[in-house]
Amino acid sequence: MIDKKTIPEIYNATIELGDKSSEYLPFSTDITLQENMVDQLFQLIPWIKGAKNQLAQTGTGEKANKFLYLQSTIYALISLLKCIINIKKNNYQQAWMDVIDAEEYIALGIRLAPEPEFIMYLSQHREMIEKTMFPKIPIYSSLGSIVRGGKCNLCLSNYENCDHIEGIIYKGKMCRIIDQTNLRVNHTALVKNPRDRRCIPLEMENSNNKMEDIFTKIERDISEEELKSKGQNGFLINFIAFNNQRIDTD
Ligand SMILES: [Zn+2]
Repeated sequence: MIDKKTIPEIYNATIELGDKSSEYLPFSTDITLQENMVDQLFQLIPWIKGAKNQLAQTGTGEKANKFLYLQSTIYALISLLKCIINIKKNNYQQAWMDVIDAEEYIALGIRLAPEPEFIMYLSQHREMIEKTMFPKIPIYSSLGSIVRGGKCNLCLSNYENCDHIEGIIYKGKMCRIIDQTNLRVNHTALVKNPRDRRCIPLEMENSNNKMEDIFTKIERDISEEELKSKGQNGFLINFIAFNNQRIDTD
């Protein structure tokens, strides 16, 4: 492997492989070829980040942001391919996480969007995958919590003492709060528009009084334990209440 590439070389390699990988998105493409493509795309990430860090040292950050756009696009392609691979392997829960990762990477890409055409194509493709491969999720879980402390991922000082703002992009990286402690949950809510679409019900009690898998619709009996926890007129739902997986915006 060549251990040095110039920034234009990294840019060109990314555009080339990004274009090529979109030809592997159709469902009928061989799974091994799709897995190989995911590996190849992952190999671009350290190159893109290297270019981004170099560009962040000079100028206003506009060029570094362009590489964050490339990074988001490559991650969106990885997530879409992984989604299809996981559907083929019947790993629907993981495939759902992938389609949501793709949604978030595409949203970030559109926010940065120097070349919206390709990312708009990915966005439409992603929407179609979600619509045709998954059920409509009726309700999501949303956690209300109080979090204290935490550091800024950019300057590593305590978040309260630094000038960066969570969610804002600075020279190719998004500010996040890391190392948070003291997570105190004060409520959970069922909502239609959650902050995190990964927090889905995995099983819901159906009209046959069985637990039904959200993706496969396969039923199972309700356990004694579950029956005990059930209120009088309530019905049982098994939720992903909280998820700390975040897309890579560093
Ligand atoms: Zn900071």
